[in-house]
Amino acid sequence: MSSIVSAAPHTWPAELFIGGRWTAAADGGRMDVIDPATASVIASVASASVVDVDAAVAAAQDARRGPWGRMTGRERSRILLRAVELMRERTEQLAQAESLDGGKPISLARAIDVPGAIDQFEYYATLAPHIDGAVRETAGQTFAFTRREPRGVIAAISPFNFPLILAASKIAPALAAGNAVIHKPAPQTPLSALLLAEILAEAGLPAGVLNVLPGAGAELGDALVRHPGVDMVAFTGSTTIGRIVARTAGECLKPVMVELGGNGANIVFADADLAKVVDTVIGSFVYNTGQFCMAGTRLIVERPIYSTLVDLLAGAVGHVPVGRPSDAGTVVGPLVSAAQRDRVEAMVDGAVAAGGRVVAGGTRLDLDGGFYYPPTVVADLPNMAEAVQEEIFGPVLTVQPFDDESEAIALANSTAYGLAAGVQTADISRAHRVAAALDAGLIWVNTWSALDHAVPFGGVKSSGWGRESGPEALDSYLRVKSVTIAVDPGPAG
Ligand code: NAD
Repeated sequence: MSSIVSAAPHTWPAELFIGGRWTAAADGGRMDVIDPATASVIASVASASVVDVDAAVAAAQDARRGPWGRMTGRERSRILLRAVELMRERTEQLAQAESLDGGKPISLARAIDVPGAIDQFEYYATLAPHIDGAVRETAGQTFAFTRREPRGVIAAISPFNFPLILAASKIAPALAAGNAVIHKPAPQTPLSALLLAEILAEAGLPAGVLNVLPGAGAELGDALVRHPGVDMVAFTGSTTIGRIVARTAGECLKPVMVELGGNGANIVFADADLAKVVDTVIGSFVYNTGQFCMAGTRLIVERPIYSTLVDLLAGAVGHVPVGRPSDAGTVVGPLVSAAQRDRVEAMVDGAVAAGGRVVAGGTRLDLDGGFYYPPTVVADLPNMAEAVQEEIFGPVLTVQPFDDESEAIALANSTAYGLAAGVQTADISRAHRVAAALDAGLIWVNTWSALDHAVPFGGVKSSGWGRESGPEALDSYLRVKSVTIAVDPGPAG
């Protein structure tokens, strides 16, 4: 049984991390990690079962009762800032992990994923010393104040597409707030989660404060959500699984954040700067090979510029570099799995059957046996087509025309999702009007995917609820306690 994953010159842990120790799964379970660029098995990682959930919860609860539970925000902050330094030193190792199991282009992992995760730890480390309550004026002979306390043990469940960033977006605020965490990464992409645990331990995080349980979803994830020793669930993933998680957490009456799927609408008015729009639109649907929740997959274009923009996109999309994730110039790599590639392919085939016109891409790529599908643009689809209404989660853009502002807003708001939306226009009043009318948690004007960890991130409708990033995320990992003390009025009273 290998206890490390190796891709020279880097190695990664490959066991469960419970109570500060690397340990095999109680039932000896292991799972293969696949390289999406070649479809070959690159590692074997321990796969947790419900028995391991019990052990991780016990370790997390012990840690909460230990030194971690007594630390001040400043002390927690120091540990997180040490982790930030270590992550910076080990940027390349983290980036390689992120690229290897997810098929993510290495240039993206280096430029976005690793710095983004580091940024979150630094941001919440700086907020940790400022967690305080409020004094409230009361009518009676009392003194009342609030305490903002950690919720306890957090189950953090993350998806495959941004393993490190989405681990950090839960673990960093949860730890800053003083909680203990059990992290279940996606089965396809466990490597960076295990490395992050190693780094946090090296930074001085006490044993049991962060536990990592790689493994397949249904049984393990469900056991985590249900466990009476878990006080809160932070879930990012598909809307289908999010519904199950929210239902179970509801039965158990425990707080839950669900950050779910999306199919972002991007409205382009005729007065927009078209050259800039072409770049923005391409970035909005090919980024991370289209496997991102806030992808701008639905382009809604004012009719006078519809044909021109479709032609410009058809020409430009062919120049997007598609290739091996390890090549520094690659922008679009493989999809995470054969199943994901097949799903994208079926969606495009369905779009054609529904009357769509493929103007770029549309045929799977054969490279090294990997799971490649090229950037694809489908024009002229009816609004009720599945490719418009559903999340595709691949590098596919649908394009629809509109005649006036109200029709554009109606089309944008016509799906079940509500994570991200955008408006491209030179008219600032219109930008304000449309931004207010769009039913989504994130709105971008004359840009797309402009993210900063100080700005809250999250959706509405079937894209879930809760907010990651910003002080809002820290609040989610805290509960408010009110303390009221009788004050003797004294002789004068
Ligand atoms: P998924 O829902 O299949 O899996 C997400 C996680 O849930 C994995 O760790 C999985 O093992 C686990 N899981 C599976 N069944 C479970 C169960 N019954 N109980 C508890 N956990 C369970 O999602 P995925 O395919 O890994 O990721 C892609 C999806 O995630 C897309 O829909 C995407 O839009 C969404 N996503 C949303 C955001 C956001 O912030 N809104 C960000 C990234 C990805």
